[in-house]
Amino acid sequence: MIYRSPISPGLSWYEASVANRPAYPSLDGDQRADIAIIGGGYTGLSAALRLAGGGADVVLIDAHRFGDGASGRNGGQIGTGQRAWPTELESEIGLERSRALFRIAEEAKAELLSMADDHGFDIDYRPGQISAVHKKRWVQGYRNHAEAMAERYDYPHISFLDREETAAAIGSKRYHASIRDIGTGHIHPLKLVVGMAEAAEKSGTRLFENTPAHAIDAEGAGVRITMEHGTLHASRCLVATNAHGDAFQAEPVSPRHIMPIRSFIGATGPLDNADAILPGGEAVDDSRFMVRYFRKISGDRLMFGGREAYSAKTPGDISGHIRKQIAEIFPDLFDVDIDHVWGGSVGITLPRLPFVRTIMPGVTSIGGFSGHGVMMATHTGRLWADAVMGHRDDLKLLQDLDIPPFPGGVALRKPLLFLAMTWFAMLDRL
Ligand SMILES: Cc1cc2nc3c(=O)[nH]c(=O)nc-3n(C[C@H](O)[C@H](O)[C@H](O)COP(=O)(O)OP(=O)(O)OC[C@H]3O[C@@H](n4cnc5c(N)ncnc54)[C@H](O)[C@@H]3O)c2cc1C
Repeated sequence: MIYRSPISPGLSWYEASVANRPAYPSLDGDQRADIAIIGGGYTGLSAALRLAGGGADVVLIDAHRFGDGASGRNGGQIGTGQRAWPTELESEIGLERSRALFRIAEEAKAELLSMADDHGFDIDYRPGQISAVHKKRWVQGYRNHAEAMAERYDYPHISFLDREETAAAIGSKRYHASIRDIGTGHIHPLKLVVGMAEAAEKSGTRLFENTPAHAIDAEGAGVRITMEHGTLHASRCLVATNAHGDAFQAEPVSPRHIMPIRSFIGATGPLDNADAILPGGEAVDDSRFMVRYFRKISGDRLMFGGREAYSAKTPGDISGHIRKQIAEIFPDLFDVDIDHVWGGSVGITLPRLPFVRTIMPGVTSIGGFSGHGVMMATHTGRLWADAVMGHRDDLKLLQDLDIPPFPGGVALRKPLLFLAMTWFAMLDRL
């Protein structure tokens, strides 16, 4: 087995907690398939699983191991709706389209859980999500949001918590208020990857790891994918490389639309006072632009994400940085042991909505879930598969979002992003 340099840094707690993570062979020589999928995260795996279930002949390749991109290493929070609130989207795309996107996201949530059940794998689902307000002047906006979701989106699962209620729910006095969503929850992300890969293989998908695609070209009415040690010929192809599109430069379009932001997570050792933190077992995200997100894992550890970086270089002393962020919220944990630290690349788009585009005949690229891919990447892969099989055409709603490229293309997006993020980080602090 070849192991190339890791695509994401650090050994995650998830990897340490999954006893048997299956390994798949690499692909050498010539292969033919109806459908080729490049990228074995949620998008690619769920598309493969759905297609194979419908009898299609599918080959899926990943440059690394499945889940080594964002899918096996994220915060595990499912969320509700798209990354941006439906109430925010209304002003950009209108109420009707915002409602349609909300409906898709609700289906994404339901189908995520039913898929795991149907295929008999456990993703450690726990209900409950709290979105906490770190600035006093935003409290009313959160209260309005809870009301609007019930009134305009027929979503009655969000309730407003005032300062005291928030302190009791989180175990921290740091936040001014919050909203609690009992219609969503959080999962073990790597178990979702492993479960989908095993189910896809059982359904007949040919799965290959450590097999980067280097080029995608038209070939007659189909597609030719050039790999390190061979060629894959297919009638159609899904590019599901997300934030990692520029690593092997198999095609130029996705990297112009999807930018990687690195996000880092730490997991503490077992806590003495674990019962005082999040007694209801919810996951938390907060109102910063550079979101802090945390939850308890395995009952008595705290998993905390929030350190971000905008270059490929891994920052130094991530543990120290995350410990400091934890202590801002839970001062008693100022010297907590952090057992695992890891990072990954979040693929973001300019409007923070998914990127879905036909990039050449027979080839679709999907990604850019902007930190909201646990349910949406999984679902969008499935929607693409359903469109290919002619089952439903909800993919069009996402395709019609027509995500613009980053100004300045791949060369300029990083310096521009760095400036923008530094600005937003400063606003978060003020
Ligand atoms: C630290 C972190 C925290 C996050 N937290 C959350 C969260 O709490 N909730 C949420 O909803 N979302 C979260 N996200 C985002 C979520 O993880 C992603 O949106 C989702 O996993 C995207 O899945 P994907 O399949 O599109 O991409 P990925 O999982 O990134 O998969 C892309 C795959 O393509 C492969 N690849 C790339 N180039 C090639 C090539 N040329 N040939 C072959 N293979 C290739 C890569 O090896 C990789 O495995 C988080 C992300 C990170 C990094």
